[in-house]
Amino acid sequence: MSGEELERQASGETGYVRRREACPWCGGLALVGTTCPKGIECPRCGVPAGDSCRRPSGHRADVLHAARVALAEERDRRAALEALDRLSGAADDDTAPDAL
Ligand SMILES: [Zn+2]
Ligand SMILES: [Zn+2]
Repeated sequence: MSGEELERQASGETGYVRRREACPWCGGLALVGTTCPKGIECPRCGVPAGDSCRRPSGHRADVLHAARVALAEERDRRAALEALDRLSGAADDDTAPDAL
């Protein structure tokens, strides 16, 4: 199952409409609730959240390290999986009679 499918299912079953807002970290137009790579510490160069990645020479890098981007995407994937778990768990625990 791809991440995109997970995202569709999670948003579809909760009825939560995904919107985009200006990201406070990078200024880009990002989906609300997703993790910004710039909003987490870089596992590669160790810069704190909010800072641009640095080259070994100390110069600021325009492009964030791939490991940092991957970590942010991994967090979003995990959050989507947990949301699906909650949804299926809630359905299983629902013993109340159908209101309809
Ligand atoms: Zn961002
Ligand atoms: Zn970095």
